[in-house]
Amino acid sequence: LRRQDNPALQAARAAGGAIIPVYIHDEAGEGDWAPGGASRWWLHGSLAALASDLEADGSRLILRRGPAETVLPELIRQTGAVRVYWNRRYEPAVVSRDRKIKAALKAAGTEVRSYNAALLFEPHEVRNQAGQPFKVFTPFWRHCLNLPMAEPLSPVTDPASPAPAAWPESETLDEWRLRPTIPWDGGLAETWQPGEAGAQRQLGKFVEEAMAAYADRRNLPGVAGTSRLSPHLHFGEIGPRQIWAAVKAVGESRGVFPPGKGAQVFLSEVGWREFAHHLLHHFPTTPAEPLREEFAAFPWRPDPSGHLRRTWQRGLTGYPIVDAGMRELWRTGWMHNRVRMIVASFLVKHLRLPWQEGAKWFWDTLVDADLANNTLGWQWSAGCGADAAPYFRIFAPVLQGQKFDAAGDYVRRWVPELAALPNDWIHQPWAAPAEVRRRAGVVLGENYPAPMVDHPTARGEALEAFKALRRT
Ligand code: FAD
Repeated sequence: LRRQDNPALQAARAAGGAIIPVYIHDEAGEGDWAPGGASRWWLHGSLAALASDLEADGSRLILRRGPAETVLPELIRQTGAVRVYWNRRYEPAVVSRDRKIKAALKAAGTEVRSYNAALLFEPHEVRNQAGQPFKVFTPFWRHCLNLPMAEPLSPVTDPASPAPAAWPESETLDEWRLRPTIPWDGGLAETWQPGEAGAQRQLGKFVEEAMAAYADRRNLPGVAGTSRLSPHLHFGEIGPRQIWAAVKAVGESRGVFPPGKGAQVFLSEVGWREFAHHLLHHFPTTPAEPLREEFAAFPWRPDPSGHLRRTWQRGLTGYPIVDAGMRELWRTGWMHNRVRMIVASFLVKHLRLPWQEGAKWFWDTLVDADLANNTLGWQWSAGCGADAAPYFRIFAPVLQGQKFDAAGDYVRRWVPELAALPNDWIHQPWAAPAEVRRRAGVVLGENYPAPMVDHPTARGEALEAFKALRRT
């Protein structure tokens, strides 16, 4: 959803003739992973921005809804289009749908071309020496860095292209009702600017202000130490080649690439995104099933009423760093990576609820919900994925909070009922002397919950369950 560095759009321009930009909203075509609530909110903003950018170029964005395999041929009939260009997507259901569409259009005599706009490396092209997919990040990334790296396309300075003699009909974004009818989206609107301009602004700001210190600050949820480009990347408002080029430009100005440790670590995170897409391509069942098959037999804790899951979702676990993360997610549609790891570990290990439950909640609430990255993140946290955290590494929420939010800024922001607690107790209000709690106005069980599980007990039970799994 961008105009610059858009290979499909550029190829259409180069071919000459009129161009009809079209977006088909095909929820059924996404299989089990149609966009969740927060993603739908973003999609509305992103399409609105693209439509207005295209209009400024004298063009339009035609919106159609329904199964792409019928909507697209219908549009071709209506307009007499002779060629179709698109940028590829990588979700398994979408890949198989698009393959069928390509074959059917070709059989009907329409020329079809698809392009890579979303990744630095095509997932199917990267293999290890034995011809197998990589399952460990470091050799994957080392291998990638030795491959030729594509540059972004040169900026389009004259975006106008001939309009068709008549524009086909378009639905309106409002008809699609992508935004919620009950207005829970105030926090999203305060936090984000969907669209290409917002993405470029965010990249510029990050490279200038935060990249140099990224290696030291990327783990601190209380500071703006990361790029916050994830939703822009997911919706293709910016591409990784543009990010690479922006970092390279800084390097060129200093005569060194990558320009410092911060830039190097940042680019390797972009590499994790590549790795996630590589894994999703080669292991397409992993959004629902563990990559390490033995985990399918894990003794998850029954939660028939959904009470445990809901307590976690609402940020009422009694562990401040976990609750802060879940509330940041609900309010802004985003959560800091360090805290994503903490809350995921808590769900899977302290509560022993299936990682798929967590992945689904993130899917619905994240503005950057991305099938490749979300699957990797959850399988990593559960210990059942490629290159995953070993199962026995159980994040201790109090220690994580003390280490990465030492001054308690993050907790104070998202769990204001604890704001008056001194730093020593902000991550463990239950352990504070009664007098300290009283002075801070914290009444456990009344205005903030007592911990829903005891850390040492939950840890012991999780390790026991893991051992049982290894014996089976
Ligand atoms: P930065 O630190 O600035 O990184 C730059 C870019 O690199 C990100 O925008 C992202 O595209 C990519 N990236 C960074 N870290 C990772 C990672 N660990 N895995 C894959 N790509 C990464 N990311 C999503 O984009 N969508 C998701 O649905 C998602 N779900 C996650 C679930 C769990 C349980 C965990 C632990 C992580 C998940 N992540 C997901 C990865 C990561 O948390 C986010 O990409 C990151 O927090 C986005 O913030 P940023 O743009 O400021 O990242």
